[in-house]
Amino acid sequence: MICQVIESIRQELPQQTHLVAVSKYHPCEAIQAAYDCGQRIFGESHVQELMAKHDALPKDIEWHFIGHLQTNKVKYIAPFISLIHAVDTPKLLNEINKQGIKNGRRIPCLLELHVAQEESKYGFSLEACEAYLESGEWKTLEGVQICGMMCMASNTDNEEQIVREFRMANSFFSLCKEKYFPHDDNFCHRSWGMSDDYPLAVQNGSTLVRIGTKIFGERSY
Ligand SMILES: *Cc1c(COP(=O)(O)O)cnc(C)c1O
Repeated sequence: MICQVIESIRQELPQQTHLVAVSKYHPCEAIQAAYDCGQRIFGESHVQELMAKHDALPKDIEWHFIGHLQTNKVKYIAPFISLIHAVDTPKLLNEINKQGIKNGRRIPCLLELHVAQEESKYGFSLEACEAYLESGEWKTLEGVQICGMMCMASNTDNEEQIVREFRMANSFFSLCKEKYFPHDDNFCHRSWGMSDDYPLAVQNGSTLVRIGTKIFGERSY
């Protein structure tokens, strides 16, 4: 079942778009089943849970941290994390930088954009993100690699609104790419799209879709 769903999602995705299988709250057996059908990128959003799974599962899994990350927990995942999706403050980026240097690596990160209408969502406003990039502070950070941007669309049935938000994120990405990262091939990722809205995300430039429920079923919180 898991294999069939993963296979059918893969067939829908254009070549530039990769599948992050969001396995939070699901047991190692489910992840192993997805692994056995070739899936290698998994997304988690809780540090303790991620560490336990990282210990238990095959070492060639690429773990992505997709949730809100607290500064004081960066040190636990810094040695092995493949990509941190939701960097939402300069302070968090600075801490990731520090832990990256300690571990002798440049930790790949995405800047989280706040484009949804909900108040509760984290992320840089487009203005704040541009001001930060304009400041050039990030250029001195040798323990991080800024690889692109991430966002979540509003949780709504209104497709026009979702499209508007993804489109906004996509044009902002392009503007920043041109202005701040024109010769940096690492800056290429657009992490948008979840189970309910990934087809719209793919139409609006997504290179990483984060899909949980559609693959693993409902989560029990
Ligand atoms: C849980 C989660 C997802 C996956 O959501 P589904 O609706 O289950 O596909 C994607 N992105 C983030 C940031 C999440 O926390």
